[in-house]
Amino acid sequence: MATAAELLEFLPGTDCQQCGLSCAEFAGLLVAREAAPEDCPVLHQPDYAGFIEALHELLGPAVTAPGMRIDPEKCNGCGICVAMCEYHLGNCDAARLGKGPRLTDTVVFHVVNGTVTVVRQELCTRLVQAAEKCNKCADHCPTEAITLF
Ligand code: SF4
Ligand code: SF4
Ligand code: SF4
Repeated sequence: MATAAELLEFLPGTDCQQCGLSCAEFAGLLVAREAAPEDCPVLHQPDYAGFIEALHELLGPAVTAPGMRIDPEKCNGCGICVAMCEYHLGNCDAARLGKGPRLTDTVVFHVVNGTVTVVRQELCTRLVQAAEKCNKCADHCPTEAITLF
């Protein structure tokens, strides 16, 4: 797990405040996993190609979030969970077309550096439709890497 200072090396360092913070403050949120690299709009520019992936690598494959645990040792990065996700199919144009989500798409998780990584776990329909809990990602995972609770 990287420190905020190490993560800051892979942020633009311009303090443009488009995220509402300075780059150093944003790095702190990354460490706390209260923000995702994708939340920095500047990193989506071509000049920063590969930086989002590098930040995910520094943050590590730990993909644990409330209500969902993904074992990085079992995950083979196949992306089936990303393709089958109920939220993605309802809200992500690329997923609806059978494509992988773009880095700019708002998604629950996507595959980064060969491992599925949670980006916006709060979007998971399990959290908003408690009466009918979705299990699709866990049910379709071929390696039983996903545990929902
Ligand atoms: S949007 Fe990105 S570049 Fe701008 S302050 Fe936030 S982290 Fe830094
Ligand atoms: S379906 Fe399972 S093995 Fe495939 S990317 Fe998702 S968690 Fe990993
Ligand atoms: S439980 Fe359903 S909505 Fe939540 S991440 Fe898995 S497939 Fe997507």
